Amino acid sequence: RPGEHNLAVLAERSFERHGDYEALFFEGQWHTSASIHERAARVAGGLRGIGIEVGDRVVVLMMNTPEVFITYRAVWRAGAVVTPVLFLQTPPELRHILTDSGARAVVVTPELLPLLQSAAEGLDLEVLVVGEEAEATPGTRPYAELEAADPLPIEPRGDDDLAALLYTGGTTGRAKGVMLSHRGLWESGAGIDAVARTMDSTRSLLPLPLSHAYGLIVVVGGMHSERRGVSVLQRWFDAKGWLELVQEHRLESSPVVPSMLTMLLAEPLDDHDLSSLQSFGSGGAPLPESLRQEVEGRLGVVVLEGYGCTEASAVVSASTMHERRAGSVGKPLPHAEVAILDPAGQPVPAGEDGEICVRGPGVMLGYWNEPELTAQTVVDGWLHTGDIGHLDGDGFLYVVDRVKDLIIRGGFNVFPRDVEDALLTHPEVTSAACVGRPDPASGEEVVAVVSVQPGSTLTGEDLVTYARGRLAAYKYPREVLVVDAVPLTSVGKTDRKAVRSLVRG
Ligand code: ATP
Repeated sequence: RPGEHNLAVLAERSFERHGDYEALFFEGQWHTSASIHERAARVAGGLRGIGIEVGDRVVVLMMNTPEVFITYRAVWRAGAVVTPVLFLQTPPELRHILTDSGARAVVVTPELLPLLQSAAEGLDLEVLVVGEEAEATPGTRPYAELEAADPLPIEPRGDDDLAALLYTGGTTGRAKGVMLSHRGLWESGAGIDAVARTMDSTRSLLPLPLSHAYGLIVVVGGMHSERRGVSVLQRWFDAKGWLELVQEHRLESSPVVPSMLTMLLAEPLDDHDLSSLQSFGSGGAPLPESLRQEVEGRLGVVVLEGYGCTEASAVVSASTMHERRAGSVGKPLPHAEVAILDPAGQPVPAGEDGEICVRGPGVMLGYWNEPELTAQTVVDGWLHTGDIGHLDGDGFLYVVDRVKDLIIRGGFNVFPRDVEDALLTHPEVTSAACVGRPDPASGEEVVAVVSVQPGSTLTGEDLVTYARGRLAAYKYPREVLVVDAVPLTSVGKTDRKAVRSLVRG
């Protein structure tokens, strides 16, 4: 039925199905499903009370707290649009998002208020501050004031109505708003839930920033769950805290990005009782095979890799407990049809690389205010992801690299991931990033930066020799720099822009 995929309805049904229980643990306190549900209905009323109408954008500039769950539900209940923003933005970047989206209100956690204030000067915005601090800050309103309103009934929304506007591409230019529909997020969340069901776990630890596509879809996935799920939330990932929470709450699974796994492996794992842990979901960035094997070997768990992008409602494919294959990001989920196309837009045979293209309800409605860019990116219903990959004969998807990260050295294509994976097979290398450096002779030279285990005496030259023994002559890195830490973005992906300036500096 049209309008069946309203995310506020999904949240309400989830509450009706499971009833009241202790659902969320955060910093020493349990939050019940009923309190989350009731607070969300009141916050929705509060939003309406301050003039937030159907279709208005509400920016969510929040560290992980229970109020993120509440705010998402409340905004959807009011028929408005969530615009989650990761906080590691500079004030001009944030200002661009605030003005481009035409946001009416911002929900902010106190530590991010100074950032917001420097970004939002002169803009007409309702600023809603979670916690006590609001009282002391002129021009803002306490979030608690919204909660004093009467509960708002659910505002009906159509399947293709806008549910979320997520900004992406900040690392490669000006951030653009990706418009996602109620149905897109609904179906994509159902895909996440289908994978979670194969894990057979109900107790999970959420270390991902919820104000991001991956975190958002984990929240929606949870609303589909058949069983009562218990979530423990981290304000921000830290490896020690993660280990303690798994032990204390006997947690079974955790969605992560690969860099979190690397950080966990650097901890003294044997000091903790992690026997409850069964699985990780990994996504957002490539999972090196050596890392997967080490995590599975040392922790006795399964790491299920998935793949997606913001423009496809966060998730496209995922491995499950029943179907997984080394090096693959799993099969496309039911809501996402995948085709591998050549530059002329024609499908390539199984096993051959091409651009990963996606069709189905999860594909974005378009880029906000960017019709031309939308037309270039979604062609005949097919989203062109900018990722290179292939499908095998059984339908498993493999991501090779991003088109824009490709290095062309002396006319040969070098995929940075091949080089990184080779370096990571060295037992003392903990992370690696490879980029091209402009070079008069070869066009681009292959250069890598790595971090190594504490106490290791490995040098860059050692690693050039090591890589030369494992990679074809045209692709081994001519220079390897050993650094304290490989630069990461706020969501834990390799920050290639920073790596490029490192190797060029
Ligand atoms: P920006 O444009 O700001 O750099 P982004 O492109 O990283 O952001 P996202 O939508 O967060 O935006 O990330 C999607 C991209 O992440 C995919 O297009 C793909 O390149 C990469 N990615 C996600 N999961 C995987 C995976 N399992 N393996 C390899 N790459 C992945």
